[in-house]
Amino acid sequence: MIPAIRGTHDILPGQVERWQYVERIAHSLCSRYGYVEVRTPVIEREELFAKGTGETTDIVQKEMYSFEDKGGERITLRPEATPSMVRAYVEHSLEHALPAAKLYSMGPMFRYERPQKGRYRQFHQLDVEVFGLQDPAVDAEVIDLAWSLVEALGIPEAELVINSVGCAECRPRFQEALLKALGDDLPKLCQDCQRRAKTNPLRIYDCKVPADQPIIDKLPHSVDYLCESCATHFTGVQGHLDQWGIPWRISHRLVRGLDYYTRTTFEVLGRTLGAQNALLGGGRYDGLVKSLGGPDRTGIGFAAGLERLVLALPEGRGAEAPPVVFVAAVGDDGRVEALKLLRELRRAGISAAMEFEARSMKAQMKRADRLKARAAVIVGGDELARGEVTLRDMRAGEQRAVSRSNAIQSVKTLVEG
Ligand code: AMP
Repeated sequence: MIPAIRGTHDILPGQVERWQYVERIAHSLCSRYGYVEVRTPVIEREELFAKGTGETTDIVQKEMYSFEDKGGERITLRPEATPSMVRAYVEHSLEHALPAAKLYSMGPMFRYERPQKGRYRQFHQLDVEVFGLQDPAVDAEVIDLAWSLVEALGIPEAELVINSVGCAECRPRFQEALLKALGDDLPKLCQDCQRRAKTNPLRIYDCKVPADQPIIDKLPHSVDYLCESCATHFTGVQGHLDQWGIPWRISHRLVRGLDYYTRTTFEVLGRTLGAQNALLGGGRYDGLVKSLGGPDRTGIGFAAGLERLVLALPEGRGAEAPPVVFVAAVGDDGRVEALKLLRELRRAGISAAMEFEARSMKAQMKRADRLKARAAVIVGGDELARGEVTLRDMRAGEQRAVSRSNAIQSVKTLVEG
C-alpha cells in the first residue's frame, strides 16, 4: 500500500456530502452578492508569491511547495489565492470590463505546515476579492458576505473580530511606537519575533509562543495611531456593521500574517474548533494590485478554509440525499423492461437504482430498504403482460398497479408529493 502524503486527505462518501453542501451555499451566496467566479491555475511562478504574499511572511519563508520544472522555471503550488487573482485581474486588464470587479474562487491551496486538526498541507479555500472600490460600505459588505456564509451554514458560536492596521502614511508611526515600547524586552521574545522585529514588526502580534504573550499584551494598539482618513474609514465600517446588526469586537492582535494588508482586517472565529479556530480571514490591501504591475486599484477580500467550515458544520447538515426509487424485476422479461424503466426514470430527473445481478424479490426489496428508497417499482409477470407495473410506497408500505405507459408520472407524483 502506498499511503497518501502527510497533511493531505481523501474526501470520502459520507463526508463529501458535507463538502458539496458548503460549496453549494458558497456559490449561491457569492452569486447573490454579485460576485462572479474566476478559476486560476494551481501552479504559478514562484516570484508571484515572493512579491505578492511577501518575502517576510512565514508562507514564503517556510511553507511553499516550490520546485524547478523540466524547463528550468521556478514554480510554486499556490499557498493562497489572492496573488493569483490579482495576476489574472492585471493580466487580462479586467479593470476595463469590470471597473468594480467582485470576484470569487474556490480550490486547493498548499502549505508545508505542521499538520494537526484543522491544519493540512493541501487544504481548500473559498476566496473572495473586490478590486477598485474604496468606500467603507464595501469593507462592510465583504464582512457581511463572510458573516452570512457562516450563518447560512448554521455554524454555532461564531465570532467576528475586526481591526485596522492603517496605511503607508500612518503605519510607520505605529511601527516606531511598537519598537520603542518593546525596548529592552525584545531579546526576551522568541527567535521568530526577533526576526520579525527586523523585517515586519507588526507580525509580532501573530506570535503564539506562550512565554511571549505577557510582553505582547502590553504593546500599543494600531487603532491609536491611525491617520485621520484611516480612522474615519474604520468608524464608517463599524457604523455599517452596527446598522445591519452584525456583532463585532475589536482585536488589537489582529494584524494578519501577510504583508499586503492596509486598513481593515477581520476574522471569523469558530469557538467549537479548538486550537485552529479561524474559519476565515481577510482585509483590505490597497497597494497590492499596483505592486504586481497593475493599475492603481484598491482591493479587499477574504479567504475561508473549507475544511474548517465542514468541521464546524452542525451534525446532519448536508446529509440530505435526494429520494431514490428502486426498480425490482421479476423474471428475464421483467428485467429487460425494468432496465428500460430505470433509464427512463433517471432521464426524467429521478434518482433511481436497481440490482445488477438477478436476485429473488425478497433480496431486491431488502436492498430497496437499505437504500431507504422512497418508492419501488416492481416490473414483470402477468402484470407486465397487462401493460402494468406495481408502484410501492415504501414509507406507507402500500402498493398498487399503475399503467406502464404512465409509470414515470405516477412515480413523480408519489416521490414529489
Ligand atoms: P490565510 O490565507 O492564512 O489568511 O487563511 C485563511 C483561512 O484559510 C483560515 O482562516 C483557515 O480557515 C484556512 N487555512 C489556512 N491555512 C490552512 C491550513 N494549513 N489548513 C487548513 N485550513 C487553512
